[in-house]
Formats: sequence, C-alpha cells, structure tokens
Amino acid sequence: MHRNIIKRNYRGRFAPSPTGGLHLGSLVSALASFLDAKVNQGEWLVRMEDIDPPREQEGAAQQILHSLDEHCLQSEFPVIWQSEQGEYYQRAIEQLWQQGDLYRCACSSKQIKQYRSQNEHCLCRDKKNDSFEQLNAQGYSLRIKVEAEKVVGFKDCQYGLIEQNIYQEAGDFIIRRRDGLFAYQLAVVVDDALQGITNVVRGVDLLDVTPRQIYLQQKLGFSTPVYRHVPLVCDEQGNKLSKQNFSPILNSAEALQNLQRACDHLKIAITKTQKIESLLNQAIAGWGKI
Ligand SMILES: [Zn+2]
Repeated sequence: MHRNIIKRNYRGRFAPSPTGGLHLGSLVSALASFLDAKVNQGEWLVRMEDIDPPREQEGAAQQILHSLDEHCLQSEFPVIWQSEQGEYYQRAIEQLWQQGDLYRCACSSKQIKQYRSQNEHCLCRDKKNDSFEQLNAQGYSLRIKVEAEKVVGFKDCQYGLIEQNIYQEAGDFIIRRRDGLFAYQLAVVVDDALQGITNVVRGVDLLDVTPRQIYLQQKLGFSTPVYRHVPLVCDEQGNKLSKQNFSPILNSAEALQNLQRACDHLKIAITKTQKIESLLNQAIAGWGKI
C-alpha cells in the first residue's frame, strides 16, 4: 500500500500584543512564521498576548485579527487569549514554588540594580521559604532564583549558536509583577507548551530573552521549541518599526502590496501578481529556498 502520509509534527504561531494595530514589522513576523509552518506542512495558529492591560489599546486586538484575515493569514485554531489563561500561569507558579525556585521580593528596580552592580542579590532571596499564601500576598513581585553562572545556549536557525549567562544578563528575573500581572516570559513559555508549539519564528528583538524562556522551560519540564529569529523592519533612521514609535498601521485595502513589502524584507522574490493566494504560494516556495 503506497500512500503519502504526512506526519504533522510542526506547529507554529504568531503571538501579537494588542498595543496597536498591525504594522509592517508585525506583518513580517506573522508572514515568516506562517511560511515556515507551510513549508514544513505544519499547523499555524494565532495567540493574543493581552496580559499587560496598561500598555494595550482598546480595539487593537480585533483590529489585528481582522487585518490578518484581510492578508489571508488565518489561524487554524481558535485564538487563545492570554488574559483568560491566568489559572495555567498560576499553576506554573505553584510548581516553581514547590520546587523552591521562587521568592517574593519587595525591592524596587533601583535597589535591584544596585545589588546587581555589586554582584549580589537582594536579601529577599535568602529569607526562609514562604507559604503559598505568603507568596501570593499583594505588593510583592515574584522572582525566579537563577543559578549562578548558569549559561543557557541554543541554536537559532538564522543566527546560529546563542549563549547567555542569564545570571549576569538578567539576574533573578520577574515571573509575576508587583501589580499582580503575570510576566511575559512566564506566559509565553506556558502557552507555547500548552499549545504544543514546536517552532517559534519571530523578530530578532526577542533573541535576547530566549535563553530566559528556555531556562523556564527547563525548570517547568517543558520541551524547547526550535527557534528562528528574523531581522526587524527599521525606519530610515534605523529604529525598529513598532507601535511605540507610531509606525503606520497597515491599510487592508493594500493587503497585496503590504505582503509584497513583507516578502521584500524577507528577501523572497515574487513574480508580479494580482492575487494574494498566488503571492502566498510563491512566498511559501521562496521561503523553502532561504
Ligand atoms: Zn528583594
């Protein structure tokens, strides 16, 4: 019996924060992760990283999802909203606490900076273990104990071997903020594991935090996805296009041209076409050759 059985063992994702609408920089990340999934005959999903309400813009999440649709980049699974995932993050915190990896910290970031400049950690770290109730008391941030001189390395598909001494670079980084909001590093690691993400393709601005995420994966017993970081889109002054520096929001009526520009940035050659479907098919073939 001869049948082509495709083993679907690839699952990728695009995970925007709703701090503003979709701009060219975020379209490049979405497209790159989509193309990588398609080349590998994998699945692709969208996850909304709405865990930081003070930074978010009303209506931005729906705007991003609508814009992705208009660019024919549709999630193959219902969109997960991080604001609804709190119980899973809290469960991960409980696990880390049980393992003795967490402590609550009352220090300001200025104080932490001072300790770190003297190559020390704050005194909160050395207190006897808190009960889970104490750990969850208001007014404290939760920090993970990073092993001294811990070096985490991984092979990025684009940038090669990346190694980082997390203790020196980040110290005991925050897992839950003083205001009670879960930290991005924790949420992303828990959701990638819950959603069975095997491959992460995203902007190179996140290369630097990847070792911290891998450290958390190891502490929580999760497997580590394959990473590929892609170059950022910059303006003429060399600044990253982002919502923070008011990058123009993409006009969905120009979806074809927007995708063409995203392909140009990713150095994928496209023959002129009037159809998004044809452009995406060419882009998938082109991505496979990069
Ligand atoms: Zn402290």
